[in-house]
Amino acid sequence: MSAQPQTQTTPRPAFGSVLTDTMAVATFRNGQWSDHEVRKTGPIEISPAAHVLHYSSTCFEGFKAYKWADGSVNVFRMSSHIERMCQSARALALPEPDADQLETMIATVIDRVRDQVPDAPGALYMRPILFGTTPNIGAAASPPGELMLMVLASPVWDYFSGGMKPLKIYVETEATRCASHLGMVKTGGNYAAAMGPTLAAKKKYGVDQVLFCPGGEVQETGAANFLLIRQGKILTRSLDATFLHGVTRDSLLRIAPAIGYQVEERVFTVDEMLAWVKDGEAALSGTAAVLAGVGTLVRDGREHKVGNGDVGPHTMKLRAALVGIQQGEIPDTHGWLHRI
Ligand SMILES: *Cc1c(COP(=O)(O)O)cnc(C)c1O
Repeated sequence: MSAQPQTQTTPRPAFGSVLTDTMAVATFRNGQWSDHEVRKTGPIEISPAAHVLHYSSTCFEGFKAYKWADGSVNVFRMSSHIERMCQSARALALPEPDADQLETMIATVIDRVRDQVPDAPGALYMRPILFGTTPNIGAAASPPGELMLMVLASPVWDYFSGGMKPLKIYVETEATRCASHLGMVKTGGNYAAAMGPTLAAKKKYGVDQVLFCPGGEVQETGAANFLLIRQGKILTRSLDATFLHGVTRDSLLRIAPAIGYQVEERVFTVDEMLAWVKDGEAALSGTAAVLAGVGTLVRDGREHKVGNGDVGPHTMKLRAALVGIQQGEIPDTHGWLHRI
């Protein structure tokens, strides 16, 4: 038997594979939301005819609460995520969650599982989900009148525990990530739509992710926004309905000017991106990793190195600036953190 303590020999669970023991649940019927309940995390019962199982009437959110050195737990940009959840529901013709109730559900779960929040660089990943439970398999063309809203919490550890490996990304100019009118909606169907092209590219080119660029215009990957970065400058696609408006993206763009980066938001092409990465950087942004550096782009079967192929210094600097705010080491001058 090893004399080493378990914590040093056992790898941390993979991102999202563990839930805390507490969740919150509210239901919608007869045109209104019920009071929410706090329950022990476990299986739920829904009809096999539940609308979501047949017609994907669902949306979700993902964001983190951080345990600071002073022991407090602080949620990053909770109101932006609640707003986006409501916007997703509207786009899918689902009844919107009550924003105040959803905030209470989130705060209650976090408070109950306070002792299960990992220390930095870990966090508590929060996952609200909304889905249609109306039992009617004939309702393909009408929205569900009965729904469930749940708030789940998952302890997550250092995303880069295996080291910050530069990503290899396939540049996809034919397939689309999702239906163009649902690009800014955080819904499971978009992930289902991106699965086929992503698995095909992984198999054929050994890439980590696919950057969707329909018609040669750079959009985003299956679950993260895309930024080009160099000394003094960030270039990223301007907001439109074709891609998910990431809160991480928005946060990075807002802190950028103060640390020496001018932000340009506009549509740009694959050719422009390939010219940029000859001596510039590229990175993916999202809640899970915050900012992950791209080392290689694969285009028409040809590999293009991004800079020297490593995660670049500007990517590291921007990431550190945002992570510092999230973890309470740099003052939050934007009012982004909500203490629970
Ligand atoms: C969630 C998500 C992102 C990242 O959004 P954040 O708010 O930064 O976490 C980007 N793209 C897609 C498709 C997403 O689902």
